[in-house]
Amino acid sequence: MVSEFDVIVVGGGHAGCEAASASARLGCSTLLITQNPQALARMSCNPAIGGLAKGHLVKEVDALGGLMGSVTDRTAIQSRMLNRSKGPAVWSPRAQCDRKRYSEVMHGIISNTPGIELRAGEVIHIIRNNNHIVGIKTRSGEEYRGKRVILVGGTFWNGLIHIGEWSSPAGRIHEEPALGLSDDLVAMGLRRLRFKTGTPPRLDGKSLNFTLTERQDGDPEPVWFSDPPPHERLPQLPCWLTYSNAQTHEILRSGLDRSPLYTGRIKGTGPRYCPSIEDKIVRFAERDRHQLFLEPEGLDTDEYYLNGFSTSLPEEVQLAALHTVPGLENVSMNRPGYAVEYDVFPADQVLPSLECREWKNLFLAGQILGTSGYEEAAAQGLMAGINAARSLRGQVPVVLGRDQAYIGVLIDDLITKIPQEPYRMFTSRAEFRLLLRQDNTLQRLLPIIREVGLQPPLIVNQIEGGLTRQSAISILLSTERVRLEGETISAAQFLRRPEVSLFDPALASHWTLPLLELVRQDPAAAFRAELEIKYEGYLTRQLVHVEAFRRLEAHRLPANMDYTVLGALSTEARQTLQRLHPATLGQASRLPGVRASDIAVLMVLLKRG
Ligand SMILES: Cc1cc2nc3c(=O)[nH]c(=O)nc-3n(C[C@H](O)[C@H](O)[C@H](O)COP(=O)(O)OP(=O)(O)OC[C@H]3O[C@@H](n4cnc5c(N)ncnc54)[C@H](O)[C@@H]3O)c2cc1C
Repeated sequence: MVSEFDVIVVGGGHAGCEAASASARLGCSTLLITQNPQALARMSCNPAIGGLAKGHLVKEVDALGGLMGSVTDRTAIQSRMLNRSKGPAVWSPRAQCDRKRYSEVMHGIISNTPGIELRAGEVIHIIRNNNHIVGIKTRSGEEYRGKRVILVGGTFWNGLIHIGEWSSPAGRIHEEPALGLSDDLVAMGLRRLRFKTGTPPRLDGKSLNFTLTERQDGDPEPVWFSDPPPHERLPQLPCWLTYSNAQTHEILRSGLDRSPLYTGRIKGTGPRYCPSIEDKIVRFAERDRHQLFLEPEGLDTDEYYLNGFSTSLPEEVQLAALHTVPGLENVSMNRPGYAVEYDVFPADQVLPSLECREWKNLFLAGQILGTSGYEEAAAQGLMAGINAARSLRGQVPVVLGRDQAYIGVLIDDLITKIPQEPYRMFTSRAEFRLLLRQDNTLQRLLPIIREVGLQPPLIVNQIEGGLTRQSAISILLSTERVRLEGETISAAQFLRRPEVSLFDPALASHWTLPLLELVRQDPAAAFRAELEIKYEGYLTRQLVHVEAFRRLEAHRLPANMDYTVLGALSTEARQTLQRLHPATLGQASRLPGVRASDIAVLMVLLKRG
């Protein structure tokens, strides 16, 4: 029997859960089909969410109505705000999660979402009709019709794992790969690459000697991703820090001749910024030690994740090297580290909506578009789910700008920079990062939150209320005067002094009662108002750049423009523009090979109409 759905999501990872939840909550009957429904949103690598720039992505996912923030908050066993010693633009929340609970909580949410049907199955074929997608077919022969199909296959497509000289087809260790679907996309004319990533060994906590390591606790107060946050948090656990040493490195070096990375058996490109331990000792040979973090995997397990020791060396080399590390002298491995190679489809083959350029109704998102990381996957999954639902309703897609959100930076980078290695988000990728702070996520995304419609009106009202209170605080600060010894200055001028804060009880006598009342009522709004006053100079300069950026973005390029006949463009620009058909002049300016002179030519042509 053939079943029919509005939207079919293929893959129940971080991207797939967001996509299915968004599509169903926007009113589409949604099938979430995945190899193992008990493994929804399973964390393949470290049991942690957020961190530098990734924390921003999670807060944006939460603001737009996604799940990752609240599932993280409900399962966090340690949370911290990273980078507090630096400027607020780069503060980033991070949480260590209980791996098992994370997947279970996500399973509970997905199973209880009206409109989602969760089924087990491996999809091997896309059913098409001319250049339209009409459904999918599973390995066991079931067919499902879908008006829109979202593919979110993670590291599973033709997945091949490696430990030393041993390799085996798998999506994650002890989990079947997905075979067939990737080849089907190639048969449909899509271009594919091979990427690689790796994971460290999992250790038995009973065999660790923590007294030889440094304890690291989270922040005393919870750091939340979701708004509103949950009422309570799980019991909190510490992480532990230790280091590799010269002896560790010598043992690791002795195994390089059996490393799949160095013998050439791994063909896929790995993430340069997240190297394996064997990569680190080769590339940074001058360093005599590397940090290693022991991170708990959950409340009901003794298992520890060894952050910083990703490896695919032979198992006995891994263990011998671990035994040289302080605190790990008698360690047992529950599971060795390994590498996985998998297929990806470069993102220049999708539009900013994440719909395939050549195949209508087909959306791609997550690791298969060349990113690495749960947060990057969730962000894309959410946008694919939203845009699949919108395209069904005949609405224009929601495309976030680089000046609006890290999600905008992420998708724009994927499409215009066409990464040739796993792409991970960094704060340095966002040119307007002073505006894209984690503290103002809800406020800066408010128009998009309204447009998307996944947040209940109550939340939208609360965001509006917070914005109003922030404005009221800013007005009071600019109009009130503060009397100091010998002079009177505006409250804003006083606040600009580095040592002054609205939250310092010792300075409370300098502020008026209405101001203090607003600070007490809404500390988050007061924090934003304070930041904007302290950083006003930088923000004003950034806004000038944003204006220039927006002017270029406002020039829309016709989707059917024939660039091959535009002789005034450079040859390289003609070819790139014809292949990628950027949506705006701004996007065209970020494509490789398109020069400032080409943009000037396009601007003249646009002006002439
Ligand atoms: C060994 C390893 C190490 C990693 N190391 C890191 C790291 O150091 N840093 C980092 O940021 N990220 C790392 N990652 C990546 C991280 O796990 C992914 O970025 C993230 O999980 C991607 O989410 P996703 O939703 O795209 O895919 P996944 O979480 O991989 O989920 C994909 C889901 O789709 C299902 N599926 C796939 N194909 C089909 C099909 N044809 N039919 C039905 N179901 C299908 C799978 O069963 C799976 O449930 C690592 C991953 C692995 C496996």
